[in-house]
Amino acid sequence: MISHVLPTYNRAPVAFERGEGVWATATDGTRYLDLGAGIAVNVLGHANPDLVAALTGQAGKIWHVSNLYQIPEQEKLAGMLVEKTFADTVFFTNSGTEAAELAIKMARKYWSDAGDAERIEILTFEGAFHGRSTGAIAAAGSEKMVKGFGPLLPGFRQLPWGDIEALKAAITDRTAAVMLEPIQGEGGIRPLEDADLREIRALCDKTGALLILDEVQCGMGRTGRLFAHEYAGVAPDIMMVAKGIGGGFPLGAVLATEKAAAGMVAGTHGSTYGGNPLACAVGAKVMEIVADDAFLAEVNRKSSLFRQKLEGLVAAHPSVFEGVRGQGLMLGLKCKLPPADLVKAGYEQQILTVPAADNTLRLLPPLNITEEEIAEAVARLDRAAESLDA
Ligand SMILES: *Cc1c(COP(=O)(O)O)cnc(C)c1O
Repeated sequence: MISHVLPTYNRAPVAFERGEGVWATATDGTRYLDLGAGIAVNVLGHANPDLVAALTGQAGKIWHVSNLYQIPEQEKLAGMLVEKTFADTVFFTNSGTEAAELAIKMARKYWSDAGDAERIEILTFEGAFHGRSTGAIAAAGSEKMVKGFGPLLPGFRQLPWGDIEALKAAITDRTAAVMLEPIQGEGGIRPLEDADLREIRALCDKTGALLILDEVQCGMGRTGRLFAHEYAGVAPDIMMVAKGIGGGFPLGAVLATEKAAAGMVAGTHGSTYGGNPLACAVGAKVMEIVADDAFLAEVNRKSSLFRQKLEGLVAAHPSVFEGVRGQGLMLGLKCKLPPADLVKAGYEQQILTVPAADNTLRLLPPLNITEEEIAEAVARLDRAAESLDA
């Protein structure tokens, strides 16, 4: 008999009832060190007092009104995002997938308004993840995600990840947009070289194609800059954000330049919940804390410390690990055995990690993890690896 909850997830036999910072307490009282953070979502940890105050403060005032009205909390958060990024305008969603849908619609509308409705091809990359809607799975195009769900939304073409020569050969003045994650998350913490991102920007400029960056996982301070593309010194035309932006409250956004968003006039898009006062009150508090140079400098400092210890871990378990990759606190351990085995061994040591493709174990802790907690995490990962040593 089918479970009451649609069985689309292979769930671990553990449930959590409360949390504090990097710690999550299971229903049996066991405390786990959480290096998954709900897959890069809880950027300030569990039950962060500032976020709890923002949420409960707003909860006592007004939860939901509809985008039929002005929403001051939404305008405040949009203003903060515009001030700190390339963007001129923001649309709020409830998830990364919805942000991907709008990014795709915005690119199509841009070319349609330019009198070129046939210009719909969006170039994407193998190993990408943009969400689970019919549009987002068509964008990623992997067999695993699309099988059984056709016919797919047309217009997408996947190129080998990071292959600039393939992009040069594929991009033309018929290309509507190029869409990519500066660091692939689900794909296995696979960063693009800064020089390659600059080259992609230049190819887009040359052909007129819009550059859409998916920073749903790598954005919001995760890499030690507010957004990962800042390292390359170039900006997209459209950017998808979600995961970290709500600190655990469902919230996503599409950021865009005025030019890219020009077609999105009244009536062209909408959302019942998107940008409601509760989500935006929490999002504004997350932004206030994370989009701060001193906070981001700390993320980078802790990243160096963490990486150094992880290099030691890799050296100590050569039959388990192959190397460390990633940026900031978006780290991956490339494994020599299935990463799911390490996730499982981690449960025995009360540590939570997340598997990814390309045989990679993801470490995505809250960005305010302390030095002591990093040391404790590495000690637990060391014991987990020891249990798997050949
Ligand atoms: C998680 C993720 C998404 C989808 O976000 P949801 O909130 O699950 O819809 C899209 N893109 C990237 C890069 C992601 O990591």
